[in-house]
Amino acid sequence: MVEPLPTPSSAFASERMRATPSRDTRFELAVRRLVHAAGLRYRIDRVVLPGTRRRADLVFPRDRLAVFLDGCYWHGCPTCELTPKTNAEWWKRKFTRNRERDVDTDTRLTEIDWEVVRIWEHVGPAAAAQIVIDAVTVRRRAL
Ligand SMILES: [Zn+2]
Repeated sequence: MVEPLPTPSSAFASERMRATPSRDTRFELAVRRLVHAAGLRYRIDRVVLPGTRRRADLVFPRDRLAVFLDGCYWHGCPTCELTPKTNAEWWKRKFTRNRERDVDTDTRLTEIDWEVVRIWEHVGPAAAAQIVIDAVTVRRRAL
C-alpha cells in the first residue's frame, strides 16, 4: 500500500487528476471504435486474472488475448514523464507500484497461456488499433 496522498498543495496537481480519467478515456474509446470498425469483437473492461480485480481494456476470450491501453499519466510512462511536480516523490512511488503491478499482471497472464498486448497512450488511437488488429490476426493464425 502507498500512504494516502498528501493534501494537494497545488492547483495544478488536482487539476491534472481531474483532467486525467483512469478509464474510458478518449484514447480507449477511440481505439475501441477503430478495432470494432475493423470487424473484431471483444469484451470491454473485463477481469482477466481470476481472484484479482485486474481488468484488461479489450479482451478476446476465445483468443486468450488481453489488451491493456495504458494511460501515460496513470501508468507512469517513462517516455512522457508526466509525474506532477508537486508531491513528486509520492507520485513516483505510486506510478512505480502501478508499473510493477502491470508487469506482474503480464507475467501471470502469460503463465496461463494468455497473450498480453500493452500499448501506451502516446502511440495514438490509429497506431494502437492497428497493433491490436495485427496481434489478433497473428494469434488466430497461431492457435
Ligand atoms: Zn507516454
